[in-house]
Amino acid sequence: MSIATPTQTAAGSRIRYVALAGNPNSGKTTLFNALTGLRHRVGNYPGVTVERREGRLAGNDITVLDLPGTYSLNARSPDEEIARDALLGRHPPVPELVIVVVDASNLERNLYLVTQVMDLGLPVVLCLNMTDQAERVGLQIDIQTLERELGIPVIPTVASRGKGLDDLRMLLQGAPPSLPVRRWRLPEAMKAEVVELAHLLVEERLCAPESAFFTALALLSDATGLSVIQNHPRARAAVDRAWQRLEAADVDPQSAPVEARYEWIKGICDRATRQGEIPITWSDRVDRIATHKVWGFVLFFALMALIFQAIFTWAQAPMSWIETAQTWLGEQAGALLPQGDLRSLVVDGVIAGVGGVIVFLPQILCLFFFIGLLEDSGYMARAAFVMDRLMSKVGLHGKSFIPLLSSFACAIPGIMATRTIENRRDRMATILVAPLMSCSARLPIYTLLIAGFIPATRLWGGISLPAAVMVSLYLLGLTAALLMALLFKRTLFRGEAPLFLMELPPYKLPAMRTVLLQTWERGSHFLRRAGTIILAISILLWFAMKYPGSPSQSDAARLQQSVAGRAGRLLEPVIRPFGMDWKVGIGILGSFAAREVFVTTMAIVYNVEDGDEERQSVSVRQQMREEIDPATRKPRFTPAAAAALMVFYVLAMQCVSTMAVVRRETGSWKWPLFQWAYMFVLAWTGATAVFHLGRLLGLG
Ligand code: GDP
Ligand code: MG
Repeated sequence: MSIATPTQTAAGSRIRYVALAGNPNSGKTTLFNALTGLRHRVGNYPGVTVERREGRLAGNDITVLDLPGTYSLNARSPDEEIARDALLGRHPPVPELVIVVVDASNLERNLYLVTQVMDLGLPVVLCLNMTDQAERVGLQIDIQTLERELGIPVIPTVASRGKGLDDLRMLLQGAPPSLPVRRWRLPEAMKAEVVELAHLLVEERLCAPESAFFTALALLSDATGLSVIQNHPRARAAVDRAWQRLEAADVDPQSAPVEARYEWIKGICDRATRQGEIPITWSDRVDRIATHKVWGFVLFFALMALIFQAIFTWAQAPMSWIETAQTWLGEQAGALLPQGDLRSLVVDGVIAGVGGVIVFLPQILCLFFFIGLLEDSGYMARAAFVMDRLMSKVGLHGKSFIPLLSSFACAIPGIMATRTIENRRDRMATILVAPLMSCSARLPIYTLLIAGFIPATRLWGGISLPAAVMVSLYLLGLTAALLMALLFKRTLFRGEAPLFLMELPPYKLPAMRTVLLQTWERGSHFLRRAGTIILAISILLWFAMKYPGSPSQSDAARLQQSVAGRAGRLLEPVIRPFGMDWKVGIGILGSFAAREVFVTTMAIVYNVEDGDEERQSVSVRQQMREEIDPATRKPRFTPAAAAALMVFYVLAMQCVSTMAVVRRETGSWKWPLFQWAYMFVLAWTGATAVFHLGRLLGLG
């Protein structure tokens, strides 16, 4: 019997099950997502793919399996073992085809795995991915030569841009290609031993004929598969004898196959590739500025300012439409329902509460649209690169940037993303500071206070003061996070910041589809929240603000007496130092369930308190502006007080869900409680300082 020669080409049969193998970061997951249409996030660090991921090829009944990324099939790590066992059919079904995804800019190293997969007795196709990257480094690859030398089909692709995928799909429609032929040459002495052992394994029914050569070689060269023959004394003895003979023949069974494979690979690369001049692309030129020590920061902050400026201007019109619609709805409901608690619940509780949050949808959409553009164009990786310099100064890993960046959306995914940080100290420090980044739930609060109390004057360069204040709030959160990280790394979690290596993907035109999809996902998440959690909390809050009490009392008296009113007054002494009263106290307590509820609560507080029908349509910010402090007989919300409240919300933890996630990720309540406490101290101190400073400056 001959082994590892094409036994039978599966002519006529169809491909149903395809496995994707490849080195880490060769683009497997990107290809997998493009082929199956499943949406996954793609990480940039080796070893992200640890679980088994399957998907269906769009419009077909072909199943694709994304294997863990490995450099070889030697089974020295769990990832390698999973990949090898799946390909050997130990986790059925056996794939009819293996696509090895190869980073074309790193051909020599990547081909090592290819030579191993080719030994498995399965049809193999080489997906030559990242050909754009190869071009960038001046590497020219002759596809025909490569195909001829390897003896398997080669399909050049750029998975991240969908290039070449049609060719790949076409190939999957047909019959599997014939089995590859092994062309690399083991030293004769070793080859004889492998072939003999392979025969024995097949005879003993220890493995299939197709993969016998691979298994025999694995047994002899790195002994990792010895468990296969544990209970087979005959095979064990054969392996021992083979080792003795190899030693006598002066062949090292471990290094001989590695050398032989590389020798073959080197020959192929010599004939199929040519290193040309490295072209200086416009991408490199842009990067000279985008990753510059000084200009990189300037560019980053300029972009941020521009984005917030745009958020303010563009979102204005749709926001006023939503406000108009909400007022109209409130009036309609008010006209339909009889005067009384039910009407108040619907109009003041539900419509004012939920509407008060939904109004911010345009801004949320704008923010995530721009973040999506930056991400997809490749700029975000530069921002991470620039920020890494800052991060390492505070003793944090560059890997912490991604969790912190995600925390701009919401601290919860951000904290979950810290799982990619292997070092426990770095991970803990990152978790502890992540909620300081301004999440999207804070945006409504910022906007409410800015629109109400910051005059819309223009600064130099046409930047409006509100936009500048907004950027400062985000920067305050970021700065506080970095400073606290520095403190934590110096005290609780001492340790060196490990080295961070990052590849910068080339710039590209953002794919509108991806960006819009992501924006929509965020937007619908926000709407779902408004329709569920926020709705529920609004209703609960309405009850808390009405009861105990009876409709015969005046609305203001009823609010004062209610559960919420009393709770607010309990909190009042704590927040008075930064100019707040019990009504804001209700808002702060309510927003603990979800930050944006602050806006909701204030809407309900003023609508509930102010039963006057005429004033139902007056916006919350208007009502806040007109609020009089009974002690001083002056407006309650001076610019100083509004600024203090903003600072409070930038720095306070104020979110139960985040605390629950921190508890889950750190395994104890100790950390979320500590985190809540330190952030509260920070927020209280910051707010109080700002309030008094503002008064000194004559703003209060
Ligand atoms: P995996 O570790 O093999 O699953 O690799 P990923 O699919 O996670 O890809 C790693 C990185 O390479 C991601 O940032 C992808 O966007 C990027 N990438 C994937 N394919 C290509 C490509 O063809 N060209 C370039 N330039 N980048 C790619
Ligand atoms: Mg992957």
